[in-house]
Amino acid sequence: MPRTSKKISSYKLKKMKAQEEPCHCCGKGELFFAYRCRCGFTMCQDCMADNVWGMTCNGITWECPDCSEQNGFGNQ
Ligand SMILES: [Zn+2]
Ligand SMILES: [Zn+2]
Repeated sequence: MPRTSKKISSYKLKKMKAQEEPCHCCGKGELFFAYRCRCGFTMCQDCMADNVWGMTCNGITWECPDCSEQNGFGNQ
C-alpha cells in the first residue's frame, strides 16, 4: 500500500479551530471548558455533571452518545 504524506493545510487548521461548538445538550455556547468528542459532539461541564451517570461506567472515560467513542475526562 503506497503511503501518502498527509499535511494539514492552513485551511483545515482554521476549520479545526473554528469548531467551537455549543453544548449539544443545552445549547450553551462560548464554553470556557467543554467535553468534546472527535466526532464533534460537545457537552458542557454542567450537562456532563447532570448526565455523568449515563455517560461513564468507570469514571475515567465517557462514552460519546453519537459515535460511542470513549473519551477521557481530564488530561487529554
Ligand atoms: Zn450543556
Ligand atoms: Zn463522538
